[in-house]
Amino acid sequence: MTRIWNFSAGPAALPEEVLRQAQEELLDWHGAGCSVMEMSHRGKEFTSIIEQAEADLRELMGIPEQYKVLFLQGGATQQFAQIPMNLLAGRSADYIVTGSWSKKAFKEAQRFGNVRCAADTSASNFTRLPTADEIKLDPFAAYLHVCTNETIHGVEIPGERIADTGVPLVADMSSHILSRPVNVEKFGLIYAGAQKNIGPSGVTLVVIHRDLLGMAPLTIPTVMDYAVMADNGSMLNTPPTFGIYIAGLVFQWLKRQGGLEGIAAVNAEKARILYDAIDGSGGFYTNPVDPDCRSRMNVPFVLADAGLDADFLAEAKAAGVLGLKGHKSVGGMRASIYNAVSLEAVQALVGFMNDFAKRRG
Ligand SMILES: *Cc1c(COP(=O)(O)O)cnc(C)c1O
Repeated sequence: MTRIWNFSAGPAALPEEVLRQAQEELLDWHGAGCSVMEMSHRGKEFTSIIEQAEADLRELMGIPEQYKVLFLQGGATQQFAQIPMNLLAGRSADYIVTGSWSKKAFKEAQRFGNVRCAADTSASNFTRLPTADEIKLDPFAAYLHVCTNETIHGVEIPGERIADTGVPLVADMSSHILSRPVNVEKFGLIYAGAQKNIGPSGVTLVVIHRDLLGMAPLTIPTVMDYAVMADNGSMLNTPPTFGIYIAGLVFQWLKRQGGLEGIAAVNAEKARILYDAIDGSGGFYTNPVDPDCRSRMNVPFVLADAGLDADFLAEAKAAGVLGLKGHKSVGGMRASIYNAVSLEAVQALVGFMNDFAKRRG
């Protein structure tokens, strides 16, 4: 068996240790005589799995008491609707648009009420963050929405640039959650689809402050009401049990890597060697993003000669390096270097890129 060096944007690489443990436990989970997929979500075995997953996540992220942790379905895309459905309550909300995902979130919210664009960096092709004076906030907004890592454009908001604005901050962290320590208390609601940095697709994580529960009008579907889901421990109906189990194994793996500080150090080194390879290629490869907001997780780059793209991808594949084709909306290449992508994998990618540039440059 050969495993590829996997740079897929999502669903993305999972830690091999986690896959092996799941394989070992697949037919008989801890003596239950069945797999996690085959057991009742209300039985004591699965209850212990979801409770452990939540406890480990709380420990990793330092989630305070006053926040609820929800394991939902529907992906981050469902949250684009569920957030305004629950939180607008007849008011307005502000959106900062820094790339394709926040733009989609803003557009979806328009279906549910009055929302404003507080800043938009599309004129730069989403290669930078807005400056403080470009952001026009409504002090009466129900919330302010941001995407803290734009997966397609490779723009990440550094933690220290997340400021208190006086209204609840709602953040799409799908593509960099758990990649660095985060001060949860700065946020009213954090959400993430699982398939980038948490586990398999099908699970959506929502961390929500208690003050934001119970604001939804009675006209929204029960299954979309955060308060109902919180009251039912994410089990109003059958949750995505197998995905929650794998997410729990990933949380335990992260604890073995030294938690979020430990993984952040590895992530910083991975990003450093990859951006160094791009910047040091003499223009053969370029990344257009402002250095102060380059993503440590998603690294888009273009070849100076786009005529070489097909060869680049074919030769990368032959070298066992996969998942590099850029998003269809921006073209070029993108390497996603999430938590489960090792330093060794990034070294293999950089080795291939240097070699290709030397031969074809
Ligand atoms: C992948 C992604 C989404 C969409 O996630 P789904 O789970 O497919 O709905 C939304 N936001 C960001 C930042 C993403 O990376």
